[in-house]
Amino acid sequence: MAGGVGGARLADGLARAHRTTVGDDPGVPPDLTAVVNTGDDAEIHGLWISPDLDTVMYTLAGLENRTQGWGLEGETFTVHEAMGALGVDTWFLLGDRDLATHVARTAARRTGEPLSTTTARLAAALGVPARLLPVTDDRLATVVDTPDGTLDFQDYFVRRRHADPVRGVRFEGAEVARPAPGVLDALRDADVLVVAPSNPVLSIAPLLSVPGVRQALESRSAPCVAVSPIIGGRALKGPAAEVLTALGHEPSARGVARMYAGLVDVLVVDHADAAQRADIEDLGMRVVVTDAVMRDRPDRARLAREVLAAVQELRS
Ligand code: GDP
Ligand code: CA
Repeated sequence: MAGGVGGARLADGLARAHRTTVGDDPGVPPDLTAVVNTGDDAEIHGLWISPDLDTVMYTLAGLENRTQGWGLEGETFTVHEAMGALGVDTWFLLGDRDLATHVARTAARRTGEPLSTTTARLAAALGVPARLLPVTDDRLATVVDTPDGTLDFQDYFVRRRHADPVRGVRFEGAEVARPAPGVLDALRDADVLVVAPSNPVLSIAPLLSVPGVRQALESRSAPCVAVSPIIGGRALKGPAAEVLTALGHEPSARGVARMYAGLVDVLVVDHADAAQRADIEDLGMRVVVTDAVMRDRPDRARLAREVLAAVQELRS
């Protein structure tokens, strides 16, 4: 279960960990399914953008921009500049090759193709060694209540640079959204469930808000491991700590543990948060203390192996 950057990195780590186990034989793809948040999806210049799906897709394909945390490596911005010259408001930066993804997605959507089908096609074309599932094919729109009113997610996050005080977060459409084909089966049939170190409020909560998803975790038969995105009271990137605080949660590994109580069996936390171990264990989960920061590609696989080792430990 994944949002954007944190989700993508750990998903890639799991794929890489598998590759070092079975070797680089492309005939043996990892049996890995990423269920990805779509609450951030937006229509920009008439194009349908799925930022979290694309981040996970590009990262698993090895194409991600490793410095900025979104978009593609070696990207150019010719279209963006040309649109700016036309007087178009280009607050949402889209690279040239990235635009191809959005054009393809939008064209497919016009024909009535479900997002999950389009995603599978695009991921296969890019050589993604995993199954990529949007949590739902239906509308799921994260909106943020602020003193200036209710903002669409990208308006809050990108245009206004997540600077507004957050009074509430809602997932429009969630009550009537249906899990995309394969999502509940994947959660039910998995050997291991992993909640990636994604924003608990903005990436994981929308996933859980789709009817059936939270229940699938609550009634899981496989062990579930989460990795804390909060390290030493801070997010590595983005507003996770601020948003947690604004909504009355503690911006800490312990605060994340409270949100995931009943859903996960193990929480992986950073050395910086080792002192919270007992408090987290009191919530009914095991704690693994490690280096929870994924610094480069091999490091993603290292953390993924530690996640899988935690499951072995739980089983033995
Ligand atoms: P977004 O949709 O791109 O904002 O990404 P996510 O919701 O998936 O991830 C954002 C969260 O990922 C932030 O709270 C970060 O702290 C967390 N994150 C990013 N990289 C790492 C990492 O290497 N380790 C851990 N533990 N968390 C990370
Ligand atoms: Ca996101």
